[in-house]
Parts: sequence; C-alpha cells; structure tokens
Amino acid sequence: FGHGAPQPQGKTRVKGVKRIIAVGSGKGGVGKSTTAVNIALSLAAEGLKVGVLDADLYGPSVPKLLGIEGRPAIRDDGIFTPHEAFGLKVMSIGSMLVPGQAVVWRGPMATSGLRQLLRETDWGGLDVLVIDLPPGTGDIHIALFQQTVVDGVVIVSTPQDLALIDAQKAIDMLRRMSVPVLGLVENMSFFIAPDTGHRYDIFGTGGAERAAARLEIPFLGAIPLVMSIREGSDAGTPPVASAPDGHEATAYRAIARNL
Ligand code: ADP
Repeated sequence: FGHGAPQPQGKTRVKGVKRIIAVGSGKGGVGKSTTAVNIALSLAAEGLKVGVLDADLYGPSVPKLLGIEGRPAIRDDGIFTPHEAFGLKVMSIGSMLVPGQAVVWRGPMATSGLRQLLRETDWGGLDVLVIDLPPGTGDIHIALFQQTVVDGVVIVSTPQDLALIDAQKAIDMLRRMSVPVLGLVENMSFFIAPDTGHRYDIFGTGGAERAAARLEIPFLGAIPLVMSIREGSDAGTPPVASAPDGHEATAYRAIARNL
C-alpha cells in the first residue's frame, strides 16, 4: 500500500481503521458493489483485517452479496457490533431496513445516517475498510470526502462510452475534492461463451483502459462478464470466497494487489 496524499484539515480518520478505500462508479448497475465485496475478500485473503461499509443508501446490496440477514447488534452504549461474513466485518444501511423498504431520506438525513454507521460501529481494529459508495456524485460523497480521510477511491466502469463518460465525472469530483484516485476497473469486460469458447465483447472492450490512460490514472484490471459471478452474488457466495482458485477470484485478487 502506498500512503494517501496529505489531507486538508477538518477531515478525520475513523477510530480503529488504518486505511479507507472507497469503491465508486459513474452510474448504477456496472458491478460496483460486486467489485467492492470481492476486492475486500481479496485483501482479507492477503492476511489483512478488512471491513466493508455499504454506503449505497439507496440500493444497499452488500448484505445480499455476503449472505447477511438481520440487524447488527447494538451495545448498551449505542455502538453497533458489525456483522461478520467470510472473515469481513460488515455494516450496511440495508441491514436496518425491512426487505423491500426504501430509504426515503433527504441529504442531511442520509449523511448523518452514514456518519453513524461509519463512526458508531466497533470495527475492532481494521487494516482496511472498503466503502461501497452510491453511484454518481451526490450528497453522500461530498459529506464523506469532507469529513473523513478516504485514502483512495477505485472507480468501476463497464467498457462502453456512456458508462465511461459518467466515470470521468466521478473522477473529476474526486480531483476537485483532493481525494486520491487509485484507478479504474473495467467490469463486464468481455464474455466467453461456456459452450463454444467464443469471446464476445458485449460492451466493446478496452474502453476503460484507454480512458484510464487519457485521464492519467492507473488501470487496475478487467473482470469478465461471467454467469458464476452473477449467480454467486445472488446466492451470497462471492467467487473470491467460494471458488478462491477460479479465474474470477484470480482476476479480483490481481486488482486488489494493485491497490
Ligand atoms: P452496482 O453496485 O454497480 O449497482 P452490482 O454489483 O449490484 O452493481 O451488480 C449489478 C448486477 O450485475 C448484479 O446482478 C451482479 O450480480 C451482476 N454482475 C456484476 N458484475 C458482474 C460480472 N462481472 N459478471 C456477471 N454479472 C455481474
């Protein structure tokens, strides 16, 4: 790990958390949460103590991705005890809701909700906390980056132009807010038909690598579009945990080693 750039005053670190890596995207549905969870598991596989905070208040998917049910315990002093899954400490706004319930919060409510999850959780000493950001550039991002030292952000995009245009906006925001950009991941990069072995570049290919070069940020790696990733996500068994020797897990671990 490199060290993050010097941070302006006013930002504070989270007690008991050495390093925060956030995972963002320009738009939803590009695989940001899936990537965040599998990066977290890859870092844990390197022997680090890792937590995941699901800050995607409007579409929290981390509990489902990790097969977590129910609410986290709350101690007498009001501090949350995070869930544990595959060795990760996990907190999500999704765990606070009845399934199907939407978060209907104005910006200030959402940012104070996130602050509570981040600051009033007993993380128990983490080397890395991976934060799954909401897509885009909204109130949550501004509040988090203003208040908290985020050591770096990974941006996930699919290879097509439309997603990359939005990814570029997310990177622009990070630069304006002096938050280090760790690099770009290309998700759903290509598809290999399991029956014929033919490769299909469904969303085009190489777009993210070219965009990373243009934006002068590191290209962290590519993850193919694979049915087992979607199936593992739905079943709460992410590939890095369930098939650690498979191609998918290897691809995620290579990305994590670039961080
Ligand atoms: P986001 O966080 O960007 O909204 P998700 O991580 O929730 O996206 O992923 C959206 C959907 O795409 C999920 O159903 C997930 O299982 C699926 N998915 C993500 N990455 C891949 C991939 N590389 N191959 C196959 N399916 C994927």
